[in-house]
Amino acid sequence: MTQELKLESGARIASIGGGPAGSFFAHFIHKFAKQKGIQLATTIFDGKDFLQKGPRGCNLCAGVLAESLFQKLKVEGIDLPENRIISRVEGYTMHVDSENLPLMCSDNKNDSIATVFRGNGPRFSTYQEVISFDDFLLKRAQEAGTKINSWPVWDIQLPENADQTIIISYGPKDNLRKTEADLVVGAFGVNTYLMQKIKDLGFGYSPPSTLSIFQAELKLGRENILENFGKTIHVYMPRAKTIRYATVIPKGDYITITVIGKKDATKDILQEFLSLRDIQGKIPFCQPHCFCLPKITVSPAKKPFTDRLVMIGDASYSRHYKNGIESAFLTARLAAETAIFYGVDATSFKNYYHRQAKRQIIRDNAYGRLLFSISDLISAVPILAQAHLQLAKKQQESRAPKKIRFILWNMFTGNIPYRNIFKASLDFSLHLSLLFNTLVLFVRKLKKNIR
Ligand SMILES: Cc1cc2nc3c(=O)[nH]c(=O)nc-3n(C[C@H](O)[C@H](O)[C@H](O)COP(=O)(O)OP(=O)(O)OC[C@H]3O[C@@H](n4cnc5c(N)ncnc54)[C@H](O)[C@@H]3O)c2cc1C
Repeated sequence: MTQELKLESGARIASIGGGPAGSFFAHFIHKFAKQKGIQLATTIFDGKDFLQKGPRGCNLCAGVLAESLFQKLKVEGIDLPENRIISRVEGYTMHVDSENLPLMCSDNKNDSIATVFRGNGPRFSTYQEVISFDDFLLKRAQEAGTKINSWPVWDIQLPENADQTIIISYGPKDNLRKTEADLVVGAFGVNTYLMQKIKDLGFGYSPPSTLSIFQAELKLGRENILENFGKTIHVYMPRAKTIRYATVIPKGDYITITVIGKKDATKDILQEFLSLRDIQGKIPFCQPHCFCLPKITVSPAKKPFTDRLVMIGDASYSRHYKNGIESAFLTARLAAETAIFYGVDATSFKNYYHRQAKRQIIRDNAYGRLLFSISDLISAVPILAQAHLQLAKKQQESRAPKKIRFILWNMFTGNIPYRNIFKASLDFSLHLSLLFNTLVLFVRKLKKNIR
C-alpha cells in the first residue's frame, strides 16, 4: 500500500497537454479546489499553437460534438460560442451496400450535433477569425487561473520517495529547463513520443493500443456540399478490401473525410474510398487539401497512474470509436475529483479514478466492441444489411422500425452508453421482424434466380 498523499494549498500541478483533457482537468481542479477551500498553482504545458492552420494547430480529429457532450458542458457553465461552431448538422445518412438510410436529429428529441475545427481551420484555409475549439477551451482554463507554458515536455523524473515532487523537463530541446510538481497530469493524447517515455518509467503504465486513421479536409464550397451531401454526416459501411467505415462530414465550405481501415491506414486507402459507388465523382481530390494519419485508441491503457502522476483523456481510457472528447471530459473530472477529495497517491487513483472509469467507460466498451462486431457482420452479408435497412426505413410507428432507428441513432451519436444500446437490441419483436424481412428477401431472391 502506498503512502497517502494530499494536495495542500499552494501545491503545484503540471498538466502535460492542453487538448480537451488538459483544459477540462484545469476547469475541474479549480472548481473542486474552490469547494475544498484550497488554492493551487496549475500550469498546462503544450507546444502546439491552436491558432495555426492544418496539423500544426490541430489535434487531428473529425470534430463532431454530440448532444451528450453539450449537456455536460452546459452543467459546467461551459458555453461554446456560436463562432467556434462551424456547422450544425441535421443528422446522419447511413450507406450500406446500395441502400442508404437518413436518420434525422428532428426525429430524436432535443438532439443536436455540431462540428468544429480543433485548430484554426484546415491547411490552405483562409479563416481570418479565431475558430479553434481547443483554443476556446485552453483560453477558458487560462482565464480561470491556469498558466499556459508554450513548450513541450521532454522528460519526467519520478522521485525516489513519494514525499518528494516529480521533476519535469521542458523547453527548447537544446536548452531544457526543469520544474517541480506535486501532481503531474498526462493529458498528452496518443500522438506523442511521451507515451513510451512514461511506459519506460516502469511503474506499470502501458499505453492504449491504437489504430492509424486516414483523415482529410478539403474545400468543396457550400453549394457543392449541399448538393452532394446535404446537411447530414454520411457514414459508409462498404464491403471493401481495406475500409471498415468512412465518414464525410459537412463543415461550412469544407468536408472532413475520415476513413477507418481494417488495419492501420496509409494514404493509399483514399483511392478505395474515392472509388466507392456513392462517392464516385462527388469529391474532386486534385485540389490542395489537408490530410493526416492520426491514431485512435482501441483499448484502454493499463495502470495510467502512480504516486503524483495520472494520465487522462486518450492517454488513459476512451470510449470505443466514439466521443473521445467526452471521454476526455469524464476522465479529467474523475482525476480532478480524486486529486482533491481522496489523494494523489497510487492507491487513491486506483480506488476512485480507475474504479469509476472502469464503471463508466471500460466495461461499457465491451458492449461497444460487441455492437461494432455485429454491425461489421451485418454489413458484410448483403441480405442481412438489406433486411435491417428496409425495416428501419418503414415509416410506421410500430415497435421494430422505431427500435432499430433508436439503435442506429445512438450508435452514430454515442449519446447513450453502449450497454443501453445493446439492451435495446435484444428486443424480441425486433428480431421477429428482422427474421421475417430476411426470409421475404431470401424468397424473393430465390424466385428471381429461378426465373
Ligand atoms: C481521425 C479521428 C477522428 C476523431 N473524431 C472525433 C470526433 O468527431 N469527436 C470526438 O469527440 N472525438 C473524436 N476523436 C477522438 C478525439 O480526437 C480524442 O479523443 C481527443 O482529442 C482526446 O483528447 P486529449 O486531450 O486526451 O488528447 P489530444 O486532443 O490529442 O491532446 C493532446 C495534447 O497534448 C499535447 N502534447 C502531446 N505531447 C506533449 C508533450 N510532450 N508536451 C506538451 N504537450 C504535449 C498535444 O500538442 C495536444 O495538444 C477522433 C480521433 C481521431 C484519430
